[in-house]
Amino acid sequence: MEFNILQSHKGLDKQLEELGSDPFDGNSVGTSLFMTGNMGPKIKEKMGAAAKKAGMSRRDFFRSSLGLSAAMIAANEVTGMKFFEVGSAEAADKAAKAEAIQVARAGSDFIVDVHTHVCTRPGHYQLGVNTSERGMWFVQLLDDLGKAFGLENGTRDMNVENYGRLILEESDTTVGIFNPFGFREDYGGEDMIPMEYQVGVRDRWPDNTIMLAGGLTPNQGVDETLERLNMYADQYRISGLKLYTFDSTDKKGWWFDDEALAYPIWEECRRLGITNIGCHKGIPFGQFYARYAHCEDFDAAADDFLDLNFIAYHSAWPYHNELAALKGFKPQRKNLFSEVGSTFAATVTSRPLECAHVIGTLLRDLGPDYVLWGTDSLLWGNPQWQIEAFRNFQIPDELVEGHGYPKITPEIRRKVLGENAARIWNIDQKKAMTAKADILASRAYA
Ligand SMILES: [Zn+2]
Repeated sequence: MEFNILQSHKGLDKQLEELGSDPFDGNSVGTSLFMTGNMGPKIKEKMGAAAKKAGMSRRDFFRSSLGLSAAMIAANEVTGMKFFEVGSAEAADKAAKAEAIQVARAGSDFIVDVHTHVCTRPGHYQLGVNTSERGMWFVQLLDDLGKAFGLENGTRDMNVENYGRLILEESDTTVGIFNPFGFREDYGGEDMIPMEYQVGVRDRWPDNTIMLAGGLTPNQGVDETLERLNMYADQYRISGLKLYTFDSTDKKGWWFDDEALAYPIWEECRRLGITNIGCHKGIPFGQFYARYAHCEDFDAAADDFLDLNFIAYHSAWPYHNELAALKGFKPQRKNLFSEVGSTFAATVTSRPLECAHVIGTLLRDLGPDYVLWGTDSLLWGNPQWQIEAFRNFQIPDELVEGHGYPKITPEIRRKVLGENAARIWNIDQKKAMTAKADILASRAYA
């Protein structure tokens, strides 16, 4: 990710501090985001009344699991539209809430988070030593996020250990697919998150993680790029790619449909049996140019490599309409996917109408089989609040009628949360669920 929520949610860090928030607890992160966005003051006021009704102090109520339900109900009331299907008892009674969670879990217990990160490396990032000034912009953004969510040492705490704890132990996520950061022009010639560090996650939780490779920058040379790709395949047995089309070479970026720079990569992927190719699209950030965050280059690549799946991370938001048009007007396509990491998280608590338009557009135009769940954690802390928000999220009737979006049925929810990813990554659902149960059973703390 790469979206500065600290600007759009002013006071988020203070709010979390005020709640005495535990960084491993997903609820208070979500609740605090609702309380600090542009509807924050109104939502907070309504939640205060709900706390009174539940007979709890504001602080205890906001921190508890009831707080997140109350925030969703308040968002419905403030907007006058039903974005969240939450019963009033879920914001008033802990037993009712616990039961609602069980019901939601039973409906969608298999969750594949297609978009997760660790955000450090041995030696970390030192200005002028192994990191350029521009490279520090992104480190600073990630540091601020981590600290806001209660990880005291920012990116240093976004490590292998906490990946397991936040995503696999403390959230309902069954399988995390982790995404690399390359950008080695800005990080002393070494990947921002090197594969040899990342592989520690997969070694530790082999049945609950999937590893993608990245850091392919064809502007640094096509031969070198193909060599790296082969090294990833041979040494790390990668399950796909997550790339960035902007880079810090003099050219500043490249395109997926560049027959000289990019097509040799796709041909090599085909030869190596690597079929899932993701790319950061949308959310232009840090040191990079927005131009390369557009997704028009998926068009020719998807047509010319029908046996490869092309996944637009972040759903190309705020350019998601461009992505949707690539399928909406070309319904024959079966290899174009979207992923909702950071896009859902950045909009659902403070701009639910925009969130409904984005999700509605993707479901309508790409289709329910082509939308993948992702949270961009550890950047947003424990992803559990996002899971709960999505389990309750709905496209309001007005938008269904006015725009032809589908309602989010239990079947669509299951597809987005896990089944679509399982299909394209050939995930053994049963094996992953058993391994997840083992992780929960062996938690060192409870
Ligand atoms: Zn990301």
